[in-house]
Amino acid sequence: MIDLHAHSTASDGTDTPTELIANAVAAGIQTLAITDHDTTGGWDEAAAAVCRLDSAFTLIPGTEFSCVHQPSGGAKRIGLHLLGYLFDPESEALKSERARLRQSRLGRGQAIVEALIAAGYPISWQRVVQIADGGSVGRPHIGQALHEAGVVSSVNDAFTELLSNSSPYYLPKQDMPVLQAIQLIRQAGGVPVIAHPWARKRGTVIDEQTLAELAQAGMLGIEVDHADHSGADRARLRALAHELGVLSTGSSDYHGTHKSVRLGSESTGPQALEQIVGLASGRPPIESPARGTS
Ligand code: AMP
Ligand code: ZN
Ligand code: FE
Ligand code: FE
Repeated sequence: MIDLHAHSTASDGTDTPTELIANAVAAGIQTLAITDHDTTGGWDEAAAAVCRLDSAFTLIPGTEFSCVHQPSGGAKRIGLHLLGYLFDPESEALKSERARLRQSRLGRGQAIVEALIAAGYPISWQRVVQIADGGSVGRPHIGQALHEAGVVSSVNDAFTELLSNSSPYYLPKQDMPVLQAIQLIRQAGGVPVIAHPWARKRGTVIDEQTLAELAQAGMLGIEVDHADHSGADRARLRALAHELGVLSTGSSDYHGTHKSVRLGSESTGPQALEQIVGLASGRPPIESPARGTS
């Protein structure tokens, strides 16, 4: 089984990279992409864990970039997530964007927390930073603080009640224009794949025309099979990927206990994986000793 989208404690997942690899093996996954938000911070630890495995396993290093699309005609900005696989982590332009995005998460997270405190919720920014523990700070960390404080009964309820994009406490981040992100990932030898483009419950999503523009700009794939996509949307996205000549992927978007999805709950076909690896020139996948040359 191939799962190309999973988070660790390097961002808002709850498994350390080592635990993530162990849990992937236990779930019957043979190829996993680690795709933390705006960071490559989990890559080294995950790679070391893969090199200690005695089963055949391949790690695809990746990142989920926080992006924004500004529709023409002055319509409201649309937040987007773009997965980048197998890019060169030392590519300077992309590296400095990752640092800028992580920095922007800090100011925005603190502002959300201050607004919640002002409204009487008994949490602190210090505790949120402690929970994030050096990883890219995100709303799930604030959700965990609200859960610990007894305000909500789960991180998921924290989103429903206080943290969703339509909540009065919501604030956007200083995200990267998606066309720039596609360009920088390609320049770094990586493969850009749009993550959950029609996750409609999170807010407004991009239309088919915009997906075509992204493909035109160098996006190489669409994450079709994702828990936040309806059956009808999956069917349309699969057809659209075919029409646009880009690949289709599927993945769990696992976040440990911060979300209810399980590793391997959605998966990618071997041909799509082969194409991703073939299209990449930034860095190779990491193979366990039983698989290859690690
Ligand atoms: P942020 O990156 O800070 O904007 O937070 C967005 C993250 O929160 C994404 O990675 C989502 O996977 C996660 N998220 C969105 N909705 C929920 C939810 N209902 N429960 C738990 N996590 C969620
Ligand atoms: Zn996340
Ligand atoms: Fe995402
Ligand atoms: Fe994700």
